[in-house]
Amino acid sequence: METTAKTRHGKRFDWKYSYSGNDLGAICSNVRTMFKVWCPGADKVDLTLYRDDASPAYRILPMRKKNRGVWAVIVEGDLHGTYYDYTVEEAGQAVHTADPYARACGRNGIRSMAVDLSRTNPKDWWRDAPPPLQPEQVIYELHVKDFSDHPASGIPEEYRGKFKAFAYRYEDGRLPVCMAHLKELGVTHVQFLPIFDYGSVDEDGDGRQFNWGYDPVNYNVPEGSYATDAADGAVRVLECKEMIQALHQNGLRVVMDVVYNHTYAADSWLERTAPGYYYRRRSNGALSNGSGCGNDIAAGRAMVDNYIANSVLYWAREYHVDGFRFDLMGLMTVELMNRIRRELDLVFGPGEKLLYGEPWRAGDSPMEADTHPALKANLPLFHPGIAVFCDNTRDAVKGGCFDARSPGFANGGRDLEHSILQAAAGWPEGAWEFNPWDASQLITYVSCHDNFTLWDKLVLCAAPGEGVPGPDAFLPPREDLLAQNRLAAFICFTCPGTPFFQAGEEFARTKLGDGNSYRSAPEVNRLDWDRAWQFGALTDYYRGLIRLRRELPGLREKSTDRPGRVDSQTVHAPRVVSFQINQGGPEGERLLVAYNASGEDYVLELPAGRWIIRADGQWADQHRPAVEDGTHVTVPRCSGMLLLRLREGTITA
Ligand code: CA
Repeated sequence: METTAKTRHGKRFDWKYSYSGNDLGAICSNVRTMFKVWCPGADKVDLTLYRDDASPAYRILPMRKKNRGVWAVIVEGDLHGTYYDYTVEEAGQAVHTADPYARACGRNGIRSMAVDLSRTNPKDWWRDAPPPLQPEQVIYELHVKDFSDHPASGIPEEYRGKFKAFAYRYEDGRLPVCMAHLKELGVTHVQFLPIFDYGSVDEDGDGRQFNWGYDPVNYNVPEGSYATDAADGAVRVLECKEMIQALHQNGLRVVMDVVYNHTYAADSWLERTAPGYYYRRRSNGALSNGSGCGNDIAAGRAMVDNYIANSVLYWAREYHVDGFRFDLMGLMTVELMNRIRRELDLVFGPGEKLLYGEPWRAGDSPMEADTHPALKANLPLFHPGIAVFCDNTRDAVKGGCFDARSPGFANGGRDLEHSILQAAAGWPEGAWEFNPWDASQLITYVSCHDNFTLWDKLVLCAAPGEGVPGPDAFLPPREDLLAQNRLAAFICFTCPGTPFFQAGEEFARTKLGDGNSYRSAPEVNRLDWDRAWQFGALTDYYRGLIRLRRELPGLREKSTDRPGRVDSQTVHAPRVVSFQINQGGPEGERLLVAYNASGEDYVLELPAGRWIIRADGQWADQHRPAVEDGTHVTVPRCSGMLLLRLREGTITA
């Protein structure tokens, strides 16, 4: 096996075998279906057909060997809804495999299904279009099951945790609680944790299993446990499209979290059809593990790159997905990411589809020669239309992820004044191995599915003693922590990168201190819509911050070409900083932003001019003259303040 692994990839192999067609899989219409699979080392490939996802075979057909390792067969008749798999024979050994290019499948993705995609479209799909791009995108990270699993979500029980919940309306046409909340929040994009078929939840189970879904099985098929029927492969396709259509209709775009860096198991359909090709191995033959999940897909090889690029384009075209978030993007190559950016721009228009990812990996991984890992250190090589999660800002605001008790600037951290001012300016000085061109390359965030929720992190940093405290520490509102939460959000929304937050951050989401809930109970993970009601004032604060960014171009300005976006950066006292933003334009308006993370109120001297307060630690999006003596303003302890200097002649409200 090890010897084949060595000879099954490389430049010479790709030169001989790589196939650039985009017709692998089962291309199905009502008159015939063409099956094509890439099996470069096979001596024989058979196609087996089944009536459903569990019945015995009814037909076996030999496939013909075509050029460049492709095997093909055309079957006449209407095969929509027919299940299939392949038997790949090499050196006298036969293996069964589903189709790595499948567009539909049965329960748990074990059998592929031929699908005539034109028969999987919801009503009016032909005119589905996303809402127009806003001047800035605000991204909300959401898990399909988390969204509606709670009884207070407003969703009937049979649709809770499913794609269907997103398209559900009450009989009188009103939106259910969960969807109304999402629509009114003001975010522009919903980023879903994986919605392609993954392996860790039994689609035949009782529905109480939970997983984030970072364990792909079929990359081009929606996950069956989110569908009302996992056995009929057309249902999940239809219902996933319905979800995206409903989000579009409610003014939201959709981003997919894509996990092309590893698969659920190394014994995948990819491996079975082309042994030794798709995974990285060390010189001793062992699989590399830069993903921390047991295997690494070998981005940088021709057929891997084709597979990933075609898969992204497929979701964008067929499902109208509006953006892609690459998990462990550091295991991809800069070359592949730039190619995907170019191809998306070519088909859909420049910048129409978002593209960003995690610019790191869990461990070292042997890359192909002449490729560059898509790591933070290689940001200067990235197409400017690709952004990365900015962990520098994240850690500066709320503290590191690996020590639960280490605080950031917003919740008691010391000596972070310089970092927080760098974050506010878009890291113009860079940091170790980190030199962004400008803030368009940065995603600003303090919480995502990984690690503690923001609220839990704040609770843990404030808790006495060691260990994780009981539920009583996490559940009730606490004014000191709410102030820290608002300050953390205020900082994020006054940094120039693209804002991003985890669903529920806006209502103090808690997982009771569970810092890695990837397979914890749904009760731990799901959004608690009673809590959303209870913490409604915090949600209002987030809504106000989102509106402010829309109104004030200086806050969201990403270019560092224009000199002086941020100036007058000042450290006034330990944990008290301020800076100004030139909004530009003929108005010559200026913004003054202050962060006071200290335990004392701070009296800030205002520069000349008439200033009004647009946000403070209690209310975002307000219009209040900065009174007192007209030259000073008090920034209360643990709060942020945003002031706008009116140009001369403006009449105040
Ligand atoms: Ca699955």
